Amino acid sequence: MNRRWDGRARVRRAAIEWDVPVETARAEDLDERLRSGRCGRTGWMQVLIDHDTPVGRCPSCGWATTSERRDCPSRVIAKCLLERAPLPAWLAHLADLVPGARLRSGPESRDQQRAALDDLPGLFAAPARQPERRR
Ligand SMILES: [Zn+2]
Repeated sequence: MNRRWDGRARVRRAAIEWDVPVETARAEDLDERLRSGRCGRTGWMQVLIDHDTPVGRCPSCGWATTSERRDCPSRVIAKCLLERAPLPAWLAHLADLVPGARLRSGPESRDQQRAALDDLPGLFAAPARQPERRR
């Protein structure tokens, strides 16, 4: 039997309702204005408006939206930039491409930040940080 993958394999798959594709956003999917880093708040606002999608496909970039994820990557990122919020996990890999985008810092990295601050030289010897006592 010929086991080469062909178009028919696609037909045999489960019904589309059971197979919601989680599309990975690529750099090309993003609005050019977000990547240039020159637009500022007014530009982000404009991206937000241009990529407003009632349902179906984004009129600007053609991103297929679902009822659960009803905003395209450009709109989600523009909203995060405006609110100074970290990017959601499904867009975290694009943070390097968007100037000003932040990522959620996990607890372990917060500990690292604290340790780095503790190591900074100060005028006086700082008291050692102790775990807070329960009251
Ligand atoms: Zn869009």
